[in-house]
Amino acid sequence: MKYILVSGGVISGIGKGTIASSAGLLLKTIGLKISLESSIIIDPYMNVDAGTMAPTEHGEVFVLDDGGEVDLDLGNYERYLNITLTRESNITTGKIYQHVIERERRGDYLGKTVQVVPHLTDAVQDWVERVAKIPVDDTKECPDVCIIELGGTVGDIESAPFIEAMRQLKRRAGKGNFAQIHVSLVPVIAGEQKTKPTQQAIRDVGRAGLVPDLIACRCDVPLERSTTDKIAMFCQVEPDQVLAVHNVPTTYHVPLLLEKQGLLKTLGSILNLDAIPKPQNLV
Ligand code: ADP
Repeated sequence: MKYILVSGGVISGIGKGTIASSAGLLLKTIGLKISLESSIIIDPYMNVDAGTMAPTEHGEVFVLDDGGEVDLDLGNYERYLNITLTRESNITTGKIYQHVIERERRGDYLGKTVQVVPHLTDAVQDWVERVAKIPVDDTKECPDVCIIELGGTVGDIESAPFIEAMRQLKRRAGKGNFAQIHVSLVPVIAGEQKTKPTQQAIRDVGRAGLVPDLIACRCDVPLERSTTDKIAMFCQVEPDQVLAVHNVPTTYHVPLLLEKQGLLKTLGSILNLDAIPKPQNLV
């Protein structure tokens, strides 16, 4: 299984979901090379699902075919990728703690001191690995790629166990099977594109033990070449690992924006996507 983790820094609502589903859509366009993608959203709030949250605060609740009340972004994935997800595709802090506590009461960890690391972090990884394999369309085939969107921002107390779980999942998945896109903000102050928040965001994610393969920079306006170079220099990446994602009239432009910057090529080489066998009906 190949995993693409989309995480974010600086502020929430920065466009992680949009970038994650756009990356998924682009992968879909090379359907000749890969067969299926699944997606999982991790929300670091305590609610077991989105059904009990005010839509004015959290956005509309999206109801899946199995009745699961989940984050709106899962609706984007279903639309962008033409797939059908289940309530299991949305992990929340509440849901994963409930799962671990139920196991503890059942005696699954008998004699052990149940802890966030390793019990909760293992439960997150097991959950992701299991859900990633669930067929998401009529072919009933196991997906090849799983896109994981990590809600919240790296550095928050709430998301810390999930980030640790992702760090461990990267090791479990093995080399060439895990790519990370970290979404950051480039504010424009007095006409100048500021890179400091992105430098800080990359430092935060590095402290958590993760090194993003791509840095996607949300900015009101197109990123200047000098801004890209500065981010590359201070964040220890090559300029082609910095993706510029400026504001567009509709989010359906974002896949094109990413493709123009070679996202597919980069993901293809990190994840060795050419090695995935072609689905029979597309050969
Ligand atoms: P997150 O997943 O980080 O919370 P979302 O992907 O849900 O963020 O995006 C938050 C809002 O910003 C949405 O209303 C989305 O339509 C909008 N948005 C995201 N990316 C862009 C963009 N490049 N240009 C304009 N609006 C965008």
